Amino acid sequence: MGALRLVVRLFSFMSSVEIEVEKCKGCGLCVSVCPKGVLKMFDDTNDHGYFYLVSDGDCSGCRNCYLVCPDACVSVFRKK
Ligand code: SF4
Ligand code: SF4
Repeated sequence: MGALRLVVRLFSFMSSVEIEVEKCKGCGLCVSVCPKGVLKMFDDTNDHGYFYLVSDGDCSGCRNCYLVCPDACVSVFRKK
């Protein structure tokens, strides 16, 4: 994946989610609290050997994923 920090960003009509892939430890907490079901673990590992988070779908901007992530690798940006 390279030395550069990889950031995955989901854009939707309402909001966007930014995931710092290299900080993700694959615990899955964010997936379990997402009411929209747009988060899932990718089937490949980051440079630290952890499966990491990706997103696919419409995000409501509720910030549940941001609040539960123990490694502070999720940011949520709400659109006005
Ligand atoms: S902000 Fe809410 S809806 Fe959007 S990805 Fe996170 S938990 Fe899911
Ligand atoms: S809660 Fe954080 S560390 Fe755990 S899978 Fe989600 S983004 Fe990765």
